[in-house]
Amino acid sequence: MSEEQPRERPVARVEADTSRCVSSGQCAVTAPLVFDQDEAGQVVVLAAEPGARAAELARQAAAMCPASAIQVHPAR
Ligand code: SF4
Repeated sequence: MSEEQPRERPVARVEADTSRCVSSGQCAVTAPLVFDQDEAGQVVVLAAEPGARAAELARQAAAMCPASAIQVHPAR
């Protein structure tokens, strides 16, 4: 049986401003399918066009980010 998830229709566009990121890591903990951190702790967007569930977690991460470095826009 495949472990692969069916590809969800994107509902959002996720952007992260690394110039603002203070490497706190809340985003990667809150939405690990959407965000990771590089070796310096800076945010890395893993899923720039998430489906509904991941987008909701990305919005929560954006609300929790202490640097307001994350933006979640509606999908185009
Ligand atoms: S929560 Fe914000 S400040 Fe912290 S790592 Fe993520 S983007 Fe950077």
